[in-house]
Amino acid sequence: MKLFIAALGTETNTFSPLPTGRQNFDETLYHRHDGGAQSEHYFAQPLRIWREMALAHGDEVVESLCAFAQPGGRTRQSVWETLRDSVLADLRHAGEVQYVLLKLHGAMAADACDDCELELVLAVRDLVGPEVTIGVELDLHCHLSPRLAAAANLIVLYKEYPHTDVNERAVELFTYGRLAAMGEIRPLMALRDCRMLGVWRTSDAPVRELVDWMTAAERRDNVLSLGFCHGFPWADVPNVGAQALVLVDGDPSLADALVDELAGRILALRERYQPALLTIDEAMALLPTLAGLSVVADIADNAGGGAASDATWLLRGMLAAGTPGALFGAVWDPVAVRICMEAGEGARLPLRLGGKVGPQSGQPLDLAVTVLRVVENATVTFGAGRQPMGDAALLDVDGLHIVINSIRTQVFHPDAYTQFGIRLADYRAVVVKSAQHFYAGFAPVADRVIYVAAPGTVSPDFTSLALPRAGRPLWPQVSDPFSAGVAP
Ligand SMILES: [Zn+2]
Repeated sequence: MKLFIAALGTETNTFSPLPTGRQNFDETLYHRHDGGAQSEHYFAQPLRIWREMALAHGDEVVESLCAFAQPGGRTRQSVWETLRDSVLADLRHAGEVQYVLLKLHGAMAADACDDCELELVLAVRDLVGPEVTIGVELDLHCHLSPRLAAAANLIVLYKEYPHTDVNERAVELFTYGRLAAMGEIRPLMALRDCRMLGVWRTSDAPVRELVDWMTAAERRDNVLSLGFCHGFPWADVPNVGAQALVLVDGDPSLADALVDELAGRILALRERYQPALLTIDEAMALLPTLAGLSVVADIADNAGGGAASDATWLLRGMLAAGTPGALFGAVWDPVAVRICMEAGEGARLPLRLGGKVGPQSGQPLDLAVTVLRVVENATVTFGAGRQPMGDAALLDVDGLHIVINSIRTQVFHPDAYTQFGIRLADYRAVVVKSAQHFYAGFAPVADRVIYVAAPGTVSPDFTSLALPRAGRPLWPQVSDPFSAGVAP
């Protein structure tokens, strides 16, 4: 058999002040035909896995695009169309294929397209016809629609947040996709709209229980995969919101019953789960009273959700409170990095830092800094690979250490900091600009994790998000979205 594979995505925050253009893809992840072999980026890993598994079966593999942009605002229309058309041109050139596997994000929007994944999968379906199996792996922060579920044969979502199971899900999708292509299973999907906005950390008990239940339910006869689509709330697009998805073999009544059961368990999280969050003032009051190492997440300025990662709200609070022994990062400020690199290690200089991209970033800070270390082409681990941070510097401001960098990314892992030759254990508080992906690497070395809700592009105040294109009421914007009526 012949397999066609491609990876294309970003997570679009329609409230982000950062347009997503071609430079973002080029600097984050872009390969035309060999991304799976060339890149360590987590988004490229499924391509490597699918190629290896297909070759082990003696199948032929045609690999197309492998592209991902650091989350930001809508992708420029011309950039989206060029990327989309690259995949379609490669598929045409591939000739007859028996199965297609796509690694997409699921929350990508362009200037004139609210649902890039749907547009791509529909175009792929048009090209390959109704008999060819199309399988799609999506991030759980996606927007699902009945049209997408109808256009693809199989959709498999990550289950974990932090996303520690990208590769496991890729293996599953390959396994079921190939069986479907051989006619040995008949995948069917069912979807339920849960009309909820939220963030659900799978490290927290009620969400953990749900994921464990999902995994157990997959051991039932003819059940292939269960997906809890968390949705990505910061997107004013028609399908924003949480959904339940099930994938079964050949039994529509099983799919319907199971998706209702899953949706019921997701809806129950409205009462069962409230993620703990502190204000900046609450965190500043709490931190001095704590022993050991506190890891503090600046969740609203998470680059992984489309934020600039240059917000100064929390850093300003820490400077005002006086928090020596703390480490803060990573502030995306290419201009400040350039100045510090020119000044060199050991230099002491006045530096205007952060707060540059827009009102969500707050005001810049004018600081007297000492450049402790400079690292060229810094990287940070995520999943099985490493992501670029650009050039980076470690600064000191009266005992408070700050990491700044030139390629926008979230702090996925402690090595974002330890590559400067420092030890986390030497700090009392370590701040990470990340919503949850940091957790897998930092929680094991921390005495506690504290989530702080500062202002920002990824603010967790879902009631204030303007989502007129959602087209239906959503919890918690209304308390009962199913009795509130559907907006026209
Ligand atoms: Zn995600």
